[in-house]
Amino acid sequence: MKIVTEVKELKNLINAFRLNNPKDNIGFIPTMGALHQGHVSLIDAASDLCNFVITSIFVNPTQFNDKKDLERYPRTIEADMEVLANTACDVLFLPTVAEMYPIKDAVYSIDLNGLDQVMEGKFRQGHFDGVCNIVESFFRIIAPDKAFFGIKDFQQVAIIKHMTKVRALKVDVVTCPILRDASGLAMSSRNALLSPQEKESARILNWVLKLGKLLVQEGKPLSEIKENMLALFAQGSLDLEYLEIVDNDTLQAVNSVQPNISACIVAYCGNVRLIDNIQLN
Ligand code: AMP
Repeated sequence: MKIVTEVKELKNLINAFRLNNPKDNIGFIPTMGALHQGHVSLIDAASDLCNFVITSIFVNPTQFNDKKDLERYPRTIEADMEVLANTACDVLFLPTVAEMYPIKDAVYSIDLNGLDQVMEGKFRQGHFDGVCNIVESFFRIIAPDKAFFGIKDFQQVAIIKHMTKVRALKVDVVTCPILRDASGLAMSSRNALLSPQEKESARILNWVLKLGKLLVQEGKPLSEIKENMLALFAQGSLDLEYLEIVDNDTLQAVNSVQPNISACIVAYCGNVRLIDNIQLN
């Protein structure tokens, strides 16, 4: 695996690959590091569909609206390189902030057609502008054929798909399922910040989501489903930020059970913000 820190060097590598392998696909997986099996599953999916796999590790400052959260975000680059060495990743792109943002505080703006006004958008002002800013830059530098994202960040997937359309970027956005640990907790870099006791408490998120799915299968009305999910959540010790049941494409809350909907939940476990979701039907 090659490790590259500069855009210019990365472009040279990609150009050489394209020249020598004009029919081959380049796959790209953007991450913020502290890699776990969820990230590895995206790399595995990329290596199944692409001949050249590029992973980036970049803790993107513009998507953090809370400075403390940015400072506390786990950075485990040595361990990450070991994880990547056991995958089919060909290139690790590890840029500095100055490399990705050569003009400090430059304004980035994109019309996300309201997709950024709900759920995460309500609680993390400017988060998706920051996400689109960095992902668009990566897409323009790398011009991958396919880019791989986890449905764990449900709203992010819808927004990245929209961004690629708005900007006419010819990147196929591939969505991958949520990887969970044996207890059902969705894998996340932030789980490293949880104590063993908190990890135990965090399992409630998955239980609440699974209850929602079960009640949909039983044909219960949406109001009753949400009520029961909230009641189960209240039995645990986490602080709820939101529980929304939304249309998968518009991300708008629905008020009845219908096709193509998901339940999305965010809660604090201590001071760690956890996010999870489930497709309901
Ligand atoms: P992050 O490093 O948290 O920005 O995540 C990088 C990518 O990995 C994003 O597309 C996430 O949705 C995805 N990802 C994070 N956790 C998981 C998981 N448990 N299962 C599958 N994909 C994940």
